[in-house]
Amino acid sequence: MPYTVPKLKDFSLASLNKAAEKLLAALEKEAAAAKDDASWKEFRDRWMARKDGILTSINEWLKSAPKESKRDVGQSVNQLKAAVEHTVEAAQQRLQNRAGELRLTAERVDITLPGIRRPVGAEHPVIKTINEMVSVFRNLGYSVAEGPVIESDYYNFESLNFPPNHPARDTQDTLFIARQESKPLRERLLLRTHTSPVQIRTMEKMKPPLRIVIPGTVHRNDPPDASHSPMFHQIEGLAVDTNITFSDLKGTLDHAMKMFFGSSVKTSFRPSFFPFTEPSAEMMVSCFICGGSGKRTGVGSVAGTIREEPCRPCKQTGWIEILGCGMVDPNVFGFVKDNGYDPKKVSGFAFGMGADRIAILKYGVDDIQLFFNGDVRFLRQFGASR
Ligand SMILES: [Zn+2]
Repeated sequence: MPYTVPKLKDFSLASLNKAAEKLLAALEKEAAAAKDDASWKEFRDRWMARKDGILTSINEWLKSAPKESKRDVGQSVNQLKAAVEHTVEAAQQRLQNRAGELRLTAERVDITLPGIRRPVGAEHPVIKTINEMVSVFRNLGYSVAEGPVIESDYYNFESLNFPPNHPARDTQDTLFIARQESKPLRERLLLRTHTSPVQIRTMEKMKPPLRIVIPGTVHRNDPPDASHSPMFHQIEGLAVDTNITFSDLKGTLDHAMKMFFGSSVKTSFRPSFFPFTEPSAEMMVSCFICGGSGKRTGVGSVAGTIREEPCRPCKQTGWIEILGCGMVDPNVFGFVKDNGYDPKKVSGFAFGMGADRIAILKYGVDDIQLFFNGDVRFLRQFGASR
């Protein structure tokens, strides 16, 4: 039998309290019965609907009370109104809390289960080589400089003392950007064939003395094979100051190679030609694979015998050609003379090496393509041991 508001005849305090007690007991019981949103709404409307809710009905008590009881009845009615509002609200809160708990239970994860094991990444062997070589020069006080991969003819060739008809500009070697015939030659864009344009770009921005190391990607129109790739990486260096001599070049590079390959390697220089250095040299390091002997020893097929075989990386010469270098040609300084590079006052040396080639030698890789075709089985070998 659902609760209905009784008509009061006796307005004494005792009678009022009794009626209030009954009402509150019914309120609690119905609040507890509200199990979901729909039944809570029904409950709320039954008690609080403006037109015919129970709260509206108990106003009748006030209306029918005799004058001397109106104060007590009014107080009681107000208290009951507050209690009803509070209970209705609390019932809603209880339902919401329970819904939240249910959701949490549904979304619960067992944190004691083993997790998903993600493979640990590894530094790519070429990037690792670049980072190691760069850090050798950083320790010598060099800073790192970078520049655009799409370069103008001016920075890639002209300002580096490549005359207009120099064979290096040939389309067979250089990848030019198409449809630039209407532009003057020096403004035409190409994929830089070496990192050397960054030398000029840096000298335009910074006054001497200057010591920079330049790692970066370069492109040449070479069909891919075991030792060629249309995209590869270089590391260059440039030092400019007053009184820089060829001895500084030799001392710096000899120290750098010992830092990189180990203190036992020796260096050797032989004359060469580059348009932007004069004199120019190629530097070789003693073969760090065979120790300079040109021969490698291995275990022979008969137990206990030692077998000697030719060292392939150095082609049995005991020396490996590692970089090109030289004293910066005064003509190159001529292009940045206005920024303090007066060829009569400053001198400098530059060097450049192929990062991929060094990585090939260092890790005993026999095909440059392996670096770039993204085979995880190859790259995994360079990851941390697990
Ligand atoms: Zn060797």
